[in-house]
Amino acid sequence: MATIGRFAPTPSGRMHLGNVFAALVAWLSVRKDGGQMVLRMEDLDTQRTSAEFAQVLREDLLWLGLDWDEETQPQSQRSEIYQEYFEKLEAMGLLYPCYCTRSQLHNVNAPHMSDGTYVYAGTCRNLTQEQKVAFGRLPAWRVMVPDQEWTVEDKIQGTYKENLAAHCGDFVVRRADGVYVYQLAVTVDDGLAGVTQVVRGMDLLGSAPRQMYLQSLLGFSHPEYAHVPMLLAPDGRRLSKRDKDLDLGYLRQHTTAEKLIGVLAHSAGLLDSPIPISAKELAKHFSFDKIKGDAIYLDGKSLF
Ligand SMILES: [Zn+2]
Repeated sequence: MATIGRFAPTPSGRMHLGNVFAALVAWLSVRKDGGQMVLRMEDLDTQRTSAEFAQVLREDLLWLGLDWDEETQPQSQRSEIYQEYFEKLEAMGLLYPCYCTRSQLHNVNAPHMSDGTYVYAGTCRNLTQEQKVAFGRLPAWRVMVPDQEWTVEDKIQGTYKENLAAHCGDFVVRRADGVYVYQLAVTVDDGLAGVTQVVRGMDLLGSAPRQMYLQSLLGFSHPEYAHVPMLLAPDGRRLSKRDKDLDLGYLRQHTTAEKLIGVLAHSAGLLDSPIPISAKELAKHFSFDKIKGDAIYLDGKSLF
């Protein structure tokens, strides 16, 4: 069966070097195998995203030589579809309303993970009807998680295990304002598009177990996962959106796609030297085995 991969950018600004790297690896893997690429705009946050940014993202991807076979509906237009799957979870008896305020959730006494996220203690699991009415406001909705370990066999990072009960607790699938959250939307969108391989940034590795859990509940197959390493400046600082000279708006004016791809591929271990190369040519040299899971150090000056 042919690989179906995806680009899933958030149209809230120009692509950054880290996004470029993840998109490049996703594309190389799919094209090397003669697979299909799906593009989807993750614009659930309608305040931060726009159709103009989406168009710029498409142009940036094409400038890099990264094409796609199909663009699926943007997430902002899919509430009714997410609602169907929300109702499936509800019918399984796995959802409950949560009335906790932000400050209650981030209470210093709540157990926190090292990355600052909290573990939801299940506070609202057993509220009575009277208690629910007494809050007098619309709740968020959480899905109950089992005390069970999930294993991600990541093609770059290796084996990653997580028990959702210990790591995050019951998590939100719909916010109080009615917006479906990322975890549910991604699971439904990837599942309906038949995505078989998810390649994205390392910062999303911790989302994979939640998505695997939702996939298993909603009847979708688990895709393969590959989480690409973070790009760091030579001093160890994470390259971020603040490095304006490393977003595509600047890069497109000051370098070529081939130069950029050559430097990225060399830094990642895909090429022996940083020679300018097209994405199409690089696909012939691609293998996940060549990419190490550790952070990649990259001097922005080498891109010009
Ligand atoms: Zn609650």
